[in-house]
Amino acid sequence: TERSLVLVKPDGFARGLTGEVLRRIEAKGYRLAALAVTTPDTDRLHRHYAEHEGKPFFEPLVAFMSSGPVAAVVIEGERCIEGFRALAGATDPTAALPGTIRGDLGRDWGEKVQKNIVHGSDSPESAEREIGIWFPEL
Ligand code: ATP
Repeated sequence: TERSLVLVKPDGFARGLTGEVLRRIEAKGYRLAALAVTTPDTDRLHRHYAEHEGKPFFEPLVAFMSSGPVAAVVIEGERCIEGFRALAGATDPTAALPGTIRGDLGRDWGEKVQKNIVHGSDSPESAEREIGIWFPEL
């Protein structure tokens, strides 16, 4: 069965939304295969966000993501990559549809980085790569 790497980002974690995110994942029917709370260092984040290196939001994104604890989660279930991205909603929380995590719980806070509560892998290849970065033992 497919796996995906989900992060409750520092904004979501600090707002106490981890339980709500996990609740939605479990209510959808996916299993939690691993769960950890950690404040990621910049080396880990440079690897995680390698595809965005050079973009104007890259350094602000790494700074934001290392600013406090995140919950890292491996979820499991058929087509959970696509399924979690549907649960998360559009990247921009202002545009994300109500009913989604970002649409229900997110907004624009007037900052350089879009604080959008969660990350979810976007393909099987990135899921396995990202799981290796966050859970090298898996
Ligand atoms: P999605 O794939 O649904 O867009 P994502 O989290 O995978 O979600 P990416 O495009 O991979 O989004 O971008 C990574 C993160 O960088 C975003 O979640 C957001 O926090 C931030 N980001 C992306 N684009 C911008 C932007 N134009 N300005 C500011 N921050 C951005």
